[in-house]
Amino acid sequence: MKIGQLVRQFLPKIFEYCEKVDAEELNRLMSHTYSSGTFHLTAYPFCQEASKIETNQSCRYWTQEFDVQGKVVRVCNDWYVRHKPYFAQYLVTKGIVNKEEFSNEALSIEESVTKYKQEANPRKSSRYKNIAIGNAQNLVVRNILSNLGHENFSEKDWGDTKKYFSHKCAYCGEEKKLEVDHAVPINKQMMGEHRLGNLIPSCHECNSKKATKDFREFLGTDETKIQKIEAYMGSKGYEPLDDEHVAELLEMAYRDVADVATRYITIINRLLDIKDS
Ligand SMILES: [Zn+2]
Repeated sequence: MKIGQLVRQFLPKIFEYCEKVDAEELNRLMSHTYSSGTFHLTAYPFCQEASKIETNQSCRYWTQEFDVQGKVVRVCNDWYVRHKPYFAQYLVTKGIVNKEEFSNEALSIEESVTKYKQEANPRKSSRYKNIAIGNAQNLVVRNILSNLGHENFSEKDWGDTKKYFSHKCAYCGEEKKLEVDHAVPINKQMMGEHRLGNLIPSCHECNSKKATKDFREFLGTDETKIQKIEAYMGSKGYEPLDDEHVAELLEMAYRDVADVATRYITIINRLLDIKDS
C-alpha cells in the first residue's frame, strides 16, 4: 500500500485518539517541530487548521476536512516511502494499531519498523570489524539509482539548467561557482536519481551544508525556492521515485551486499584457520 493511502486510512483513528485519549495531541500534530521530530515531515506540519492554510500552500494538504475538538483541520499530503517507518512507529507507540488488528499490511508495517531499528545496529564481523560495510552498501544503492532510466545528463543540459536558475545557487540564490547537486539525494531512503530534473546548481557551501538532506528539508520554509525547484523538476518530467517495490528492491540489494561480504569473510577465515592449524 502506498504511504499516502496508508496515512489516510489511519486518520480517523488518529483524530479519535486526539479526541478521546490525549487532548494535547492535536496541538502537537499542528506543530512543525513535533511533526518533523515524529514523522520526519520537514516542510509542513502533520495537520493544520483549514482556515490558517495559505492559498499557495493549499495543494500541500488533502482536501478532506476533519472536525477535531471543535477545529476543522486538513492533513499534509507530502508523504514519501521514507516516512513509513516513522508513521508506523507512531501508530504503535500511541497504541493506535494493536496486535489483534494486525492484518498483512500491519505486519509489513511492523517489519519496516524492525528493519529500521536493525539498521541502527549493523552486524559486525570479527576480522574486518573496523571497516563499515554500510559504505559499500550505500555505494551499491547509489550505483543502482544512478543508472536508472536511459537518458544522459550532457554538458548542454548542465548549461540549460544553470540558465534556468539564472546562474545562481538554487539554495542561497548567490552568484558563486556552481556545482551539480542532487535535489533529492541518492540513497535508499530518499531514492533520488542521477538524471535531468534532479540535478540542480548549488554553490559549494550550500552543497556541503545540505549533505544528505532532501531539498525541501534543507530549504525549510523557503517556499519560493522550493517551488522553483519543483517547477524545474516538473518541466523536465522528473518525478521523485515513490514506489514501494523499488524501495523493497533497494533494501534487498543493500542486504545482499552485506551477505556477500559475510559469505566471503566466513570462507576466507575458514581457509586461514586451516592454514594456521
Ligand atoms: Zn548557495
